[in-house]
Amino acid sequence: GLADRLQSTMQKIRGKGKVNEADVKEMMREVRLALLEADVNFKVVKEFVKRVSERSVGQEVLKSLTPGQQVIKVVKEELTELMGGEQSKIAVASKPPTVIMMVGLQGAGKTTTTGKLANLLRKKYNRKPLLVAADIYRPAAIKQLETLGKQLSMPVFSLGDQISPVEIAKQAIAKAKEEHHDYVLIDTAGRLHVDENLMGELKDIKELTKPDEIFLVVDAMTGQDAVNVAQSFNDQLGLTGVVLTKLDGDTRGGAALSIRSVTNTPIKFVGMGEKLDALEAFHPERMASRILGMGDVLTLIEKAQANVDEEKAKELEKKMRTATFTFDDFLEQLGQVRNMGPLDDILKMIPGANKMKGMDNLQIDDKQIGHVEAIIRSMTTHEKEHPETMNASRKKRIAKGSGRSIQEVNRLLKQFEEMKKMMKQVTNMQKGKKKGFKFP
Ligand code: GDP
Ligand code: MG
Repeated sequence: GLADRLQSTMQKIRGKGKVNEADVKEMMREVRLALLEADVNFKVVKEFVKRVSERSVGQEVLKSLTPGQQVIKVVKEELTELMGGEQSKIAVASKPPTVIMMVGLQGAGKTTTTGKLANLLRKKYNRKPLLVAADIYRPAAIKQLETLGKQLSMPVFSLGDQISPVEIAKQAIAKAKEEHHDYVLIDTAGRLHVDENLMGELKDIKELTKPDEIFLVVDAMTGQDAVNVAQSFNDQLGLTGVVLTKLDGDTRGGAALSIRSVTNTPIKFVGMGEKLDALEAFHPERMASRILGMGDVLTLIEKAQANVDEEKAKELEKKMRTATFTFDDFLEQLGQVRNMGPLDDILKMIPGANKMKGMDNLQIDDKQIGHVEAIIRSMTTHEKEHPETMNASRKKRIAKGSGRSIQEVNRLLKQFEEMKKMMKQVTNMQKGKKKGFKFP
């Protein structure tokens, strides 16, 4: 799938010290194939690849310390942009009730989503919706909505299947005004495919009710078809939003990527299951992460970027090379790691970290970093710069000052010496290349 393909491509460049134009080109070829394979619209793919390429060969990426990660970040940002950037809100009519028409093909999830949306409106916005059963063609469609209404303890307006949907909608709105419902959700009929009759009826309902929102409900599993459906509904009715259902299933993600740019209609909600609370606001950024299959890693990269000062990182690197790294530098480094948040959380963001050998009994926790910091802070400036001058009475004083044991002080001193040795080896081995170091 898209995630796998993109991931393996990303993997290739992630560790790269330098990225050149040829690398970017190679990578974009893979991204392009991955997107097409995921059933993303051809024109959308072309535009997308063009934008990512331009940004990736630009200064911001090539000059950074971690160009591979920067390219991934660009891909993620552009995916987010493709799906509409900021998430959208639901309209509120200046004069209630706010009318929302639910449209879409049969089986897309209109009736279920009508129930979910009513639930959300009440729970999150404290609204009082009226559900309207305007699908008079599908057997048991009215019953289905009434059952949902019962589950929610919400009123459902219906006039059976002998009255026209337009008339049902009209009377429903009158009823809503009378009973002070602030939202009217009209569940309309669908067909197996877009046809004239269906559109004609929907246009009539639109004409009469002047809806504040027309939400197209589409099944995410249908990929490129969902995009075509969205396009024709939009051409005929003018949609205000899309609800992408069945995203809890094994979807290819292509629909989410194309719908916005093809129809210029935002995805407002996503269905994440059959239950009535399984409707979520659409977050383009989270979807991008999901598509890349690397959500938390990206958060991690961003955290690192926000908290690790590049200038300081370069300075440290130089100190490591020239072996002038002191306890003060060490403290500073610990501080930067700490800024990223609790270590437990950071480890959790690394995919597979919990499965790595020895990771479960890894002994770095925040408390321990705190202890190390306390010990270093109890040293004098001279001691920090010249740990080799440390003697028994100094160690005793430091232990007392930090509230730690002499053994702990000894251990830290030993680890620090070993770390310096290791740094020297590492930097000799790969001159110029940046390398992190282990915690004591
Ligand atoms: P309609 O014909 O458009 O009204 O579609 P329905 O609301 O009757 O839904 C068709 C089927 O899709 C039902 O079995 C629903 O339970 C199911 N469904 C709807 N939304 C979702 C969703 O977000 N996730 C899953 N897994 N199933 C859904
Ligand atoms: Mg239905």
